[in-house]
Amino acid sequence: MSMLAIKKYPDPVLRKKNGKVEKMTPELKKLIADMTETMQKADGVGLAAPQIGVSKQIIIVRTEEGPSVFFNPKIIKKGKKSYIEEEGCLSLPGIVLKIKRAEKIELEALNDKLEKIRISAEGILARIFQHEIDHLNGILIIHKIPFWRRWKILKQFKNKKN
Ligand code: ZN
Repeated sequence: MSMLAIKKYPDPVLRKKNGKVEKMTPELKKLIADMTETMQKADGVGLAAPQIGVSKQIIIVRTEEGPSVFFNPKIIKKGKKSYIEEEGCLSLPGIVLKIKRAEKIELEALNDKLEKIRISAEGILARIFQHEIDHLNGILIIHKIPFWRRWKILKQFKNKKN
């Protein structure tokens, strides 16, 4: 296994369209193992494939059973209640933003065996899923705040040169 480089905002790969996963290959297996290791070493609770430069609908989420992979995840139901909580993102180091998310969601995805599954999640787990699925649609937490605040942060990142 190897640690992958995490793409940072405003890398254009974070905004790209992501293709569906249809079959398991040895390359995909390795990618999942590497993504899992990368997420854990970075002390993250979730990681989406575009964050390591792969334009595919793959997310790793830290669940109660440990890090799990989900392919082609799609939110099919959102609870009416939402709440605001601070969120960070491995692609936006040092940035913490207050983000409004649905408290409960239901989603469909494929599991590690490419079987179709349905998941109900609430609280922090629902929040992680929403954050990671946003990544697959090219949306970062920074796109959920007013433009003028985003512009300030963008300037800060461009000056950093990493
Ligand atoms: Zn993120």
